[in-house]
Amino acid sequence: MSSSVEVKEIATPLNDGEIYWHYKGAIYGWSQVLSQSSYKRLGNVTPIRNLFLASGWTIPGGGICSSMLSGMSTAKIILRKNLSLGRHYAT
Ligand SMILES: Cc1cc2nc3c(=O)[nH]c(=O)nc-3n(C[C@H](O)[C@H](O)[C@H](O)COP(=O)(O)OP(=O)(O)OC[C@H]3O[C@@H](n4cnc5c(N)ncnc54)[C@H](O)[C@@H]3O)c2cc1C
Repeated sequence: MSSSVEVKEIATPLNDGEIYWHYKGAIYGWSQVLSQSSYKRLGNVTPIRNLFLASGWTIPGGGICSSMLSGMSTAKIILRKNLSLGRHYAT
């Protein structure tokens, strides 16, 4: 099988940052320790008007499912805000 391999790519935290743009190769965002987990992470709402966050760096944390939940929470916040301003969406 090795004779069929044309390209081999190895990723480490050192080059992960270059390939995927993860800061310093941190694929799960902040470290997976209690002091940097869950509600210790950045929230979805920021003090800057109309700037919202969603990613593995924010609440609830890193990983695919948590990042999706973060995006869903942020989308809900934005939709609620827009509805309260009288902006409605076609269903
Ligand atoms: C090799 C590897 C294996 C993993 N395995 C698992 C696993 O088994 N299970 C699991 O739950 N999680 C896993 N993860 C972690 C998971 O992929 C991440 O936690 C999750 O994808 C983070 O989602 P995100 O939306 O925050 O960031 P990303 O999915 O990284 O998305 C960020 C996007 O923003 C783009 N971007 C970055 N900077 C800019 C810029 N300046 N301008 C425009 N676009 C930009 C990037 O190209 C990327 O498309 C893995 C990660 C890696 C790298």
